[in-house]
Amino acid sequence: MYLHPEFETLTRSELEVLQTERLRATIKQCMNSPFYRKRFEESHIRPEEIKNLDDLRKIPFTTKQDLRDNYPFGLAAVPMEEVVRLHSSSGTTGTPTVILHTQRDLDEWANAVARCLYMVGLRPGDIFQNSSGYGMFTGGLGFQYGAERLGMLTVPAAAGNTKRQIKFITDFGTTALHAIPSYAGRLYEVMVEMGIDPRRDTNLHTLIIGAEPHSEEQRKRIENMLGVKAYNSFGMSEMCGPGVAFECKEQNGLHIWEDYYIVEIVDPDTLEPVPEGEVGELVLTTINREAMPLLRYRTRDLTRILPGTCPCGRHHIRLDRMKGRSDDMMILKGVNIFPIQIETILMQFAELGNNYLITLTNEEANDLMTVEVELKEFSDDYPHLQALTKEIVRQLKDEILITPIVRLVPKGTLPQQEGKAVRVKDLRKTLI
Ligand code: ADP
Ligand code: ZN
Repeated sequence: MYLHPEFETLTRSELEVLQTERLRATIKQCMNSPFYRKRFEESHIRPEEIKNLDDLRKIPFTTKQDLRDNYPFGLAAVPMEEVVRLHSSSGTTGTPTVILHTQRDLDEWANAVARCLYMVGLRPGDIFQNSSGYGMFTGGLGFQYGAERLGMLTVPAAAGNTKRQIKFITDFGTTALHAIPSYAGRLYEVMVEMGIDPRRDTNLHTLIIGAEPHSEEQRKRIENMLGVKAYNSFGMSEMCGPGVAFECKEQNGLHIWEDYYIVEIVDPDTLEPVPEGEVGELVLTTINREAMPLLRYRTRDLTRILPGTCPCGRHHIRLDRMKGRSDDMMILKGVNIFPIQIETILMQFAELGNNYLITLTNEEANDLMTVEVELKEFSDDYPHLQALTKEIVRQLKDEILITPIVRLVPKGTLPQQEGKAVRVKDLRKTLI
């Protein structure tokens, strides 16, 4: 049931002991990095002062901007001769950042990913296909090494060429697939066009979906379409990549590996810890990394810690499904809205497909939101479409408190992305 029982089944107090020990070693390691040495000096902290987990809060946060300002190697905590690989974030939100790895870092990363895959029931004998882009994007090599470490036959199909992807699935008997959630829907559509019934014609039983926010409704759709179990996978380049937090078979929150990371949830404005169980920004400290440890890294991802214990027997805390990044938040007429709220409503309508686009515009001082969503099937039943539109508007208004314009568009009209889906286009002009 556990790949690393010695770590996965640690009790809370055992985890705390291990974290404390690893935190101290990490702080020591950080003193080899010009960046952290300077940080500690400037904040008048002596490394010896950080003795326990509470002391961590004395250390200033590390931000993406720090990584950019010290691009590319300013955070290296080992001599560069010991660095064997670098990755770079996909740069969704600005200049790329660089993450460095020693061979030991890569080994531990592969172990973490293998642990996640094992947790959802994958075993040697499974055939694991990865539809992530390889190269700088960590979803490629990250899953590759993790799946190999577990001992599965691994198919590095990489992104794109959906028909070829499907051919591999049927020819090789792929049983488990890693795909971005928006791509999983696309895959199904093309299967249908090719006359392939995923339940009848493939051996797929498990999907790993992650890398972008998605709703529970979207997960259910993916499971129903492909006849699989779909597990949420969370990671980011700064924390290696995939393998940071993963759902177990309970599919109720993502266990974050506390032998690798110390977790804090803070209020993004005050930077103070939020009350237990409340949503805030995820802040992570790496405690199992050599080349480039990060202390109190502000991920900008919003989530909360789920209360209670998990029946799977792991005491590593569970994060709730990500709500999105603080930079994904749209502010319309003073109301804070996350794309995922809109997706949750849309996905409840069986008539609607998986692809949607939110466009924000303004006329005079008035913010407007237009939600375009593809229909699953062609329809010219205008009275029905009209009633459907009205009902979608009503439900969206209930959720986001403003009235959007809703347009139902034929399948295949909206841009289809191969990487992470872009759900929001903000065309608002700054009004003087
Ligand atoms: P970039 O930061 O350039 O997008 P990454 O590939 O490192 O590059 O992306 C990591 C980010 O992707 C996370 O910080 C998070 O916002 C998002 N992400 C990853 N996995 C998930 C997930 N399962 N659910 C929601 N968001 C996710
Ligand atoms: Zn569990």
